[in-house]
Amino acid sequence: MKISVAIDGPAAAGKSTIANIVAQKFNFMYINTGAMYRAVTLMCIRQNISYTDVNRVCEVTKSLKMHFEGEKLIVNGEDLTESIKHPTISNTVSNYAAISDVRKLLVKLQQQMAGEYNVIMDGRDIGSVVLKNAPLKFFLTASPEERAKRRYNELSEKNISVNYDEILNDIIKRDHIDSHRSSSPFVKAEDAVEIDSSFLSLSEVVQIISSYIKKYIEEHR
Ligand code: C5P
Repeated sequence: MKISVAIDGPAAAGKSTIANIVAQKFNFMYINTGAMYRAVTLMCIRQNISYTDVNRVCEVTKSLKMHFEGEKLIVNGEDLTESIKHPTISNTVSNYAAISDVRKLLVKLQQQMAGEYNVIMDGRDIGSVVLKNAPLKFFLTASPEERAKRRYNELSEKNISVNYDEILNDIIKRDHIDSHRSSSPFVKAEDAVEIDSSFLSLSEVVQIISSYIKKYIEEHR
């Protein structure tokens, strides 16, 4: 039987960093579903396709062959891992991700991946929709200010010119759109373990999640 671990949380809560470390520790496949929505957004922007043009956005989504290689997202043979992190994509990805048919296509792909491998998947609807029956679900939060600070540092280190207030506003706006859309809005699954990382280090969060996974594996040997 395949093991699935779901990690949901708001923008810039540290999900991908933590999920990636935990995945390596247990040799699970890491699936960053936010990256998949970002890839759709980037490909549409490249072709000047607005999120209001739902049919064309869906056509683009269908044309994308996506797979993960460790932390990397490869789309139609191109490594998009870094380009999808750019603020231009962050600013508008929630509008593309709100399209119900785009969600259906990506959710299907995500569920197929979880059927084939032991996975750690992070996103907004993993515990509530994509992997509803996952035995291990986590809901990772931190205050908007703490999340903006972390994202600011991350982008600055990559020499991407950013402004703290703009990042904070983007995070607040994105959380609002993600939580209020009609198609699978961002919610905490009832059975998810909530972890507020505002005052926890990265390794403390990794340790908490790892202890649940270890316990589950031991009980299901
Ligand atoms: O996780 P990340 O911040 O990279 O996600 C980018 C955006 O993709 C989110 O703000 C949200 O609009 C969308 N998303 C989603 N469902 C997921 C993962 C991400 O709607 N499972």
